[in-house]
Amino acid sequence: MEELLNTSIARYTTLKVGGSVSRLVHPTCTDEVLEILEKLRKSGEPWFALGGGSNLLVSSSGFDGTVIRMTQMQHMEQVEPGILEADAGVRLPHLAKYAGSIGLSGLEFAVGIPGTVGGAAVMNAGAHGSAMSEITESVTIFDTKAWKVVTLSNKDVQFEYRRSAIDPDVHIVLSSRYRLSSDAAETILARTQHNEEYRFKTQPLGWPNAGSTFKNPEPTRGAGMLLDQAGAKEMRRGNAGVSAVHANFVINLGGATSEDITSLLREMQEKVHEKFDIRLHPEWKRLGKFTDEELKVWS
Ligand SMILES: Cc1cc2nc3c(=O)[nH]c(=O)nc-3n(C[C@H](O)[C@H](O)[C@H](O)COP(=O)(O)OP(=O)(O)OC[C@H]3O[C@@H](n4cnc5c(N)ncnc54)[C@H](O)[C@@H]3O)c2cc1C
Repeated sequence: MEELLNTSIARYTTLKVGGSVSRLVHPTCTDEVLEILEKLRKSGEPWFALGGGSNLLVSSSGFDGTVIRMTQMQHMEQVEPGILEADAGVRLPHLAKYAGSIGLSGLEFAVGIPGTVGGAAVMNAGAHGSAMSEITESVTIFDTKAWKVVTLSNKDVQFEYRRSAIDPDVHIVLSSRYRLSSDAAETILARTQHNEEYRFKTQPLGWPNAGSTFKNPEPTRGAGMLLDQAGAKEMRRGNAGVSAVHANFVINLGGATSEDITSLLREMQEKVHEKFDIRLHPEWKRLGKFTDEELKVWS
């Protein structure tokens, strides 16, 4: 199993921000995940499960612990008619295209979400009016409190808007099963391609970013629209900026620090609060140490 010591984590995130981590490991199967967790239990060292790093801000001071990067757990297979099982590290665009190619419909919405099966279960990732909650049959996790592998039904996962009962401080997602419907492969792939092209037109994909920064406060009042109307587009803080294409996308203009980003997030929140009296809450997760002032962004 590949293991890197004192390595920069920025390159493993889509925002390309963050300092060094003490250890980065790449398990390729469940047994290797359990082996790592067993060692960490003995040493008492902190750990963090990383997927695609596409919904994450890592602090410039990094993380003093082990990052378990799941992206080499890559198996996916139709295990029963209409049931697709995928390892935690499979990327959603890959999964959506694979499902389409074998005539399974339901994942077309996920083609533009650059996260993994694990991160998507934690976040209940969604797009184009659909979300993982609608197609997930079950999620298999390792529960580090109970110290055992547990398979959660869709109901047990308690999906909500951009969250679930899977707690990344305690649980590691190992795999998910999806219940999908049958359709002609070319019809599914045409829908998938349409969704992918729409993304290219509406998101600043040429710049490092972590997708939507803030959750939508209400289904009818998108954070992007509120930020746009509050004049947030093209705001700058150090080397971080708000995209001119989509006001809910923060982009790394080159060498942005986590400090640049958190102060930009704070200003974006203030702009929307001043104009609409609405408090925006970040969708992003964090890793590493942040000051009390910075943490107010998430409070
Ligand atoms: C260009 C772009 C577009 C995006 N569009 C969308 C969109 O349309 N809809 C949407 O919902 N999101 C979107 N996102 C955000 C992101 O892709 C999703 O939130 C995705 O589900 C995150 O998955 P990840 O694997 O990258 O998670 P990470 O960013 O790696 O981690 C996020 C959280 O999940 C936890 N986690 C990850 N893997 C595991 C695991 N195996 N076990 C336990 N915990 C785990 C981490 O510890 C962390 O707390 C977009 C991001 C980008 C960059």
